[in-house]
Amino acid sequence: MAKLLMGKEVSARIKAELKAEVEELKKQGINPGLAVIIVGEDPASQVYVRNKELACEACGIYSEKYALPEETTQEELLKLIDTLNKKESISGILVQLPVPKHIDEKTIINAIDPKKDVDAFHPVNVGKIMVGNYDFVPCTPAGVMELIKESGIDVCGKECVIVGRSNIVGKPQAMLLLHQNGTVTICHSKTKNLKEKTKNADILVAAVGIPNFITGDMIKEGAVVIDVGINRLENKKLCGDVEFESAEKVAGAITPVPGGVGPMTIAMLMKNTVKAAVVNQSK
Ligand code: NDP
Repeated sequence: MAKLLMGKEVSARIKAELKAEVEELKKQGINPGLAVIIVGEDPASQVYVRNKELACEACGIYSEKYALPEETTQEELLKLIDTLNKKESISGILVQLPVPKHIDEKTIINAIDPKKDVDAFHPVNVGKIMVGNYDFVPCTPAGVMELIKESGIDVCGKECVIVGRSNIVGKPQAMLLLHQNGTVTICHSKTKNLKEKTKNADILVAAVGIPNFITGDMIKEGAVVIDVGINRLENKKLCGDVEFESAEKVAGAITPVPGGVGPMTIAMLMKNTVKAAVVNQSK
């Protein structure tokens, strides 16, 4: 039976450590603050934003929420970002994605001051991750790295296979694994013989967005399997990109969904917000 990598527990530990760190920083006059902007009524996004607010509270981080109506124009959103870029009490800015279709996501990401870009989506931060000299790591891949550490496996020299090549998960994940000397393969929808690739993985990261896509027969005996996927089924239940039942029989360690990568993403956002407060203070 595979070891369960409980992101929920690890994230609680990280948030408790951050709370203590924030208390110390406040004594030095450094007050981390996060601004979260949400445009529209997407129910999943509403839940994510609420969880981020709660995490701020748990860590003693000041937070501001801007819930804007669906019809908000790009200009209005850019104006708010500009205000927050200049606002001293705010060290981190997050725009919950996706934004409505009439707003250009890239323009919005590019407008956030890279020093306050706690999601690490701005091209400046993406470039820094590429060269391995970064302040912020994108939250989901950073959370995955923490869970891999939790599994006890050393990434150095391991075959690491990522299924998915999004800018948010797959690509930065590949960089982080590479920085730890993993041998990295990135798979996507045009990959041929996918099973052959996944079966070779000592560390397998699934970020596909298709429920139960990775099955036990695609996994090498003893592999560490990290399921980034969050999919809502018709019966409203959440499920990952990995078919848990068949995978846990083969894997050495595996993340559950929910309670795996999801909570880690939020913990890493808190970490980035605290880091932003420190980094901005020293610049
Ligand atoms: P995207 O839709 O942006 O990317 C999905 C990737 O999967 C693409 O690269 C795509 O390939 C690849 N893919 C699709 N079909 C196949 C296939 N048949 N075989 C191999 N690869 C395939 O998704 P995200 O990266 O944004 O998210 C992935 C999942 O992770 C989703 O379930 C999402 O909800 C979840 N997620 C969870 C987070 C968390 O905190 N736990 C945070 C972010 C996302 P191609 O590029 O060729 O199209």
